[in-house]
Amino acid sequence: MTNNAQVRPWGIYAHIPYCVKKCAYCDFVSSAVGNSAAREMQDYAAALRAEILREVPPLRARWGDVTTVYIGGGTPTVLPAECLTEILRTLIDAAGMPQECTVEANPGTVDADCLAQLRAAGANRLSLGVQSFDDRLLRAIGRIHTAEEARAAFRAARAAGFDNISLDLMYGLPTQTLDDLKTSVNTALALAPEHISVYGLIVEEGTPFATAEAQGLLTLPSEDAAEEMYDYLMEELPARGYARYEISNFARAGYESRHNRGYWRNVPYLGVGAAAHGYVDGVRWGNVTDAHAYIRAIRAGASVRTPEDTERTRANAMEEYAFLALRTREGIDAADFSRTFGVDIDTVYGAVIEKYIVQGLLRRAENHVALTDAGMKLGNEVFAAFLLGA
Ligand code: SF4
Repeated sequence: MTNNAQVRPWGIYAHIPYCVKKCAYCDFVSSAVGNSAAREMQDYAAALRAEILREVPPLRARWGDVTTVYIGGGTPTVLPAECLTEILRTLIDAAGMPQECTVEANPGTVDADCLAQLRAAGANRLSLGVQSFDDRLLRAIGRIHTAEEARAAFRAARAAGFDNISLDLMYGLPTQTLDDLKTSVNTALALAPEHISVYGLIVEEGTPFATAEAQGLLTLPSEDAAEEMYDYLMEELPARGYARYEISNFARAGYESRHNRGYWRNVPYLGVGAAAHGYVDGVRWGNVTDAHAYIRAIRAGASVRTPEDTERTRANAMEEYAFLALRTREGIDAADFSRTFGVDIDTVYGAVIEKYIVQGLLRRAENHVALTDAGMKLGNEVFAAFLLGA
């Protein structure tokens, strides 16, 4: 750190764009690993370490040790354990030891040895993509693991010393019933994770599910049934000790994801790896998405940031600030908004705020403006109203 460093929170997101195979609903930037993958993954890991060594030191010199690190994908644990831990060590050597260091893992790609290596290399939080504890549904959505493998991965993570584990669960899956969901939730709760994320299935363009839907081959729960599942989750998880602190995220007290909180609170973060996004000095960017192009550019010492690197307008910055903060339980901090933009939030959004308070979708509390429970359900409608010029 330099003498004129201004210590402040910041994060690093590292993207691993590989999976064992693509799930039928997934439109994330990742490709299924083929026969030639071992070599490509080694090349990718080398490029990623080179980008880390190039981009991290200037930020550490400005802001001190990194606060949070998140390695996501794709499936980071599809890399050989030695390769992934080398990336982790490179990150920690360059950025300092983060307070929170999360690695995403697919239960079909971890064993006790891999988890022990990750823990020893500095990972202290594991995010397990379980999605369901129902083998029939896991097969239907193209997951590579069984329910028992998910339970075994969780137990192995505990044994490896992970005392902060998050589980992802999905609802609204093809042919899923409310009782199916209740069984999965009860299985998840029996494992006593610290954190649970829940996502409703969205049929994204270009996915196998989109094709099946177009052919009339996808049997999704009705809107009413999906809404019943949503309502059940929103009641059940808090009742069982998991507070809803963001639209899709629930945690036991003290186990909210610090890294994700950073995104919602406009904390700067560096994105490294193909398709990773970053936000530094008010500028947002995305890295080139193609892994081969990424490797070539890094080898050539060239920038991997896509040309859309544009300085945002002040209006864009206010919109983003509002959308991100509104995702959280505490909502927009009016004092911070006015410090950040030099204008009172009511001058910009007063009419919108009043309109949605009357409709019961927004509330004011202790100088914050936040979504109500009803507002969280209709989040997109409220977010659209925060578009300036809408
Ligand atoms: S494992 Fe995750 S990133 Fe990979 S295809 Fe499935 S949902 Fe997408």
